[in-house]
Formats: sequence, structure tokens, C-alpha cells
Amino acid sequence: MNRPDGRPLFLLCSSAPLWAATGEISEAVLVFQDITQQVSLEQQKNAFISAVGHELRTPVTVIQGYAELLVQHARQGQDLTGPMSLRATSMMVTQTTLLAHLIEEMLTLSRSEQTDLTITRAPADLIATLGAVVEGMASTSTRHHLRLVLEGKQESEQLRGWFDAARLTQVLSNLMSNAIKYSPAGGEVEVGMRWTPELPEEALIWVRDQGIGIAPAEIPAIFQRYYRASSLDPSISGLGIGLALARDLITRHGGSIRVESTEGSGSTFFVWLPLSQHLKNGQGREQV
Ligand code: ADP
Repeated sequence: MNRPDGRPLFLLCSSAPLWAATGEISEAVLVFQDITQQVSLEQQKNAFISAVGHELRTPVTVIQGYAELLVQHARQGQDLTGPMSLRATSMMVTQTTLLAHLIEEMLTLSRSEQTDLTITRAPADLIATLGAVVEGMASTSTRHHLRLVLEGKQESEQLRGWFDAARLTQVLSNLMSNAIKYSPAGGEVEVGMRWTPELPEEALIWVRDQGIGIAPAEIPAIFQRYYRASSLDPSISGLGIGLALARDLITRHGGSIRVESTEGSGSTFFVWLPLSQHLKNGQGREQV
């Protein structure tokens, strides 16, 4: 059934007879309940479970293939430190890291839905955190050139602030893996940080790519849970939860996240992060 504007409408209908004192049915009660929202949630959940299945299947298949190869090498008495075996082991490590990341994302999503996602803001060095994420990603990405750009600080310096380094790493890894994933032709991925002595208790971080970009009409929706741009090449896999989690985690830090993008030439995600121990009123939903 459709509404007058053409949108589908799902109704749950139930009925019951009303009996007269004579024992005959005298009237009936009909109840029509609009369950469109529940049906839509159910559809979203099914699509998500199917996407999770696809996302998990690829790394598991790769790990299984390489593990079988190693068993075969061992049975044949081959040297397990040879180049083929080492390549198999390193592929297994890469895919296991991917699986661990996916599982962590899903757990974070479920915690954030049950409102028991906590962040622990503690003194940490922002430059070291950024450097570690870029270095970690650079070792797994060969087609992209990853670079760290610092404004107002040197790589050899520290920028101490109060934030949850593990959660910030999760956000930056998401933004960087998106930058790589949505730049299928390769190119540069720039991770930047600007700090000024005039505003010492905050930092601006960005992740810039030269990829496919985002259509203006899609930009307001991409931070929504399970949302994926409609024109995406189906070969680019994803669950549509990374940006929703990133926004949730940054908001809990009292910060904000936004994007600027041009279709066909790339996107830049900006994270504004307060560094001070005490968040101002209204900043962050969780305090230390
Ligand atoms: P996923 O990447 O798993 O689909 P995300 O929540 O991380 O989920 O991103 C939501 C959507 O935003 C993506 O499906 C994609 O359409 C768009 N998007 C995110 N990052 C980029 C980027 N760097 N370039 C182009 N599109 C992007």
C-alpha cells in the first residue's frame, strides 16, 4: 500500500468480533496500525547483517587460503621461513587486523546504541598519536602516498592534551581507511594538524584525499548510521557505520567533525578537537 505521496505504507490489521447477549455477532472491531517504521528498521537491520556477512567473508576466506598453503608447505617439509611462507603469514596478519578492526567497530556501535560507550580522556600527545596512525596505515597501503603535515608544531615536538588516544586512533583510522578506499586510483592522503599559540587548548585535524568525492546532496546524510552514498561502485565495500561512530566519538570529546568535498576530485574531513582537561559547558556528552 502506498501513501498519497507514493511512499510505501505498511499496516498491521487485526479484527475481533463483539458478541451480543443473544450470542450473535453484533459488531466488529478493526484495528489498523501503521508499522512502516518498524518494517523499515527491520529492512535496515537485514541489509546490515548481510553487509556484515560480506565484510567478514572476504578476510576469513583469505586467511583460510593462506593457512591451508602453510599447512601444505609444512607437510611437504618446505622451509616455513621462505619468501612464499612469509608472504602468506604477512597476508594473514593483514587480514586478521582487518577482522579485528571490523569487530571493534561493531562492538563500539552496539555500545554507543546502548549508551554504555565510554571515553576516557587522559593526558596524551596528539603528535605521537597522529604519527602512529599514519605510520601504521602506511605499512599496509602501497598504492597511496600517506603524509603527515603539521602546522604550528614540529614532528619532533609534543602537543599534550586531554583526549582518549585509543578512541581518537579509531576515528583517524576510519577517516584514513575511507580516504584510501574511496581513492581507488591511488593518490595522496594527507593527514594534517593545525595548532596555534593563540588557541593553545584546541587543534584542527584533517584527512584529505584525491578520490571520488561526495555529491553535494549526499553530504548531509553520510554521518548517519548505515548510510552509504547511492552512486557508490558496488565493489567498494563497507558497512556505513564508520562516520557515524567517528562523529559520536568526537562529540563525546566535546569536538566536532565535518566534511568538504568535490565530486571527482576528493574530500577533506575536518575534526576540531578540544585539548583542555575541562570541557566548557555543553561540550561533550561525557566528562572525565
Ligand atoms: P562505509 O565506508 O563503510 O560505507 P562510512 O560511515 O565510513 O561507511 O562512510 C559513509 C559513506 O560516506 C560511505 O559509504 C561513502 O559513500 C561516503 N564517504 C566516506 N568517506 C569518504 C571519502 N573519503 N570519499 C568519498 N566518500 C566517502
